[in-house]
Amino acid sequence: MMTPSWIIQKKRDGKELKKEELSEFIRGISSGAVADYQASAFLMAVFFQSMTLNETVALTEAMLESGDRYCLSHIPGCKVDKHSTGGVGDKVSLILAPLAAACGLRVPMMSGRGLGHTGGTIDKLESIPGFNVHLSQQRFCEILAQVGCAMTSQTEKIAPADKKLYALRDVTGTVECIPLITASILSKKLAEGTDALVLDVKIGTGAFMKTREQARRLARTIIQVAKKMKLPCRAVLSSMNQPLGYSVGHTIEVCESIEVLKNEKRDDLNSIDLKELTLHLCAQMLYLGRVTRTLNEGRKLAQDRLHDGSAWKVFQELVKAQNGDLASIQSPEKLKLATQKVTWKAKRRGYIAKMNAEEIGKLLIELGGGRKKASDPVDPSVGFIFHKKLGVPIQTGEPLVTVYAQPHTDLALLENQFHPLVEISGTRKMVPKLVFEQLS
Ligand code: URA
Repeated sequence: MMTPSWIIQKKRDGKELKKEELSEFIRGISSGAVADYQASAFLMAVFFQSMTLNETVALTEAMLESGDRYCLSHIPGCKVDKHSTGGVGDKVSLILAPLAAACGLRVPMMSGRGLGHTGGTIDKLESIPGFNVHLSQQRFCEILAQVGCAMTSQTEKIAPADKKLYALRDVTGTVECIPLITASILSKKLAEGTDALVLDVKIGTGAFMKTREQARRLARTIIQVAKKMKLPCRAVLSSMNQPLGYSVGHTIEVCESIEVLKNEKRDDLNSIDLKELTLHLCAQMLYLGRVTRTLNEGRKLAQDRLHDGSAWKVFQELVKAQNGDLASIQSPEKLKLATQKVTWKAKRRGYIAKMNAEEIGKLLIELGGGRKKASDPVDPSVGFIFHKKLGVPIQTGEPLVTVYAQPHTDLALLENQFHPLVEISGTRKMVPKLVFEQLS
């Protein structure tokens, strides 16, 4: 066995690690031969020194090989998954998986928990009472075949090295790193057995990649590594300059997703960007999975299946198959929200010019809706409802956001932290595009 500290030192000094060195180090992470503090030091070294493409491929392979690999070839139909690089209020997967299944794809979705200031699909699904996110391989395959989509967390056997590193990155300030994000996403996606992958690479104040250039580099790296590993992949670069939709917080986000699936419109709240991005990503999946010949046809099919209620039907079947409580998604007002409810109002009039989505994600963690350390539980009942989106006018005293918090939370303190995160300007500023570009 190589001494872990040599590998850490080599990376710390900016040298290229060999495939065998990386695979041995990653094996050591899974077996326990590499301690958590050594894994954390390694992550920080990679964060500062980055990795070459060859190292990133080797890291992805090593993480994939740390566990089992599902074979889904006995399930008819093309299997296409989507993965987001992480955002605030990003509940797209909850709508997209059943929607793409309703359009004829199979969607084997293995998702993560919250990472850094971003929320995770698994934490959101767990806010549905009874919903089982720990499916065995056999049950995952059965549900995929029967419902058309299945949503599970990584088992101990799927890329266990990623599971460990993901939790360590979350609490060691080593999330925003292209090779680590690439290996984390692709090791899981290759292990779950999908035939193809659509990536939603977020850019902006709430994303790990703050600029278009960084996001493009991440997308290109993932596509290049995926190609080397024979996984067809397309990427969409989308805006994360404000929370997606109107809600941030696990239970509230489930409620918003259900409204979109049921085609319910609320006059007071706006889910347009959430719906638009979901349709866009669905079109990409349908095109990549050859269900449609063009992206336009894909979008039209997705729109039809959302509007005719097919996606909502698949979502209910999914919840039932994964032991979730059907009554609470059929009447989401039954889902419990935290009892301290306060609305924070605009302090001046003007237009919503900027939102610091990352800091908003961190405020959710302050409310208890995210983790400060890996072992922390997450409170699904806390969160925010945003009454205004970027670019819209607002009057002094009009509701800006409604907060759901536990009774012991000092909201006066949080309100002071919140107001600087939403900039109100006298003139209307350009709202960033929702989808910047597509790469394949
Ligand atoms: N999603 C993942 O699975 N891993 C990352 O590192 C970022 C987003």
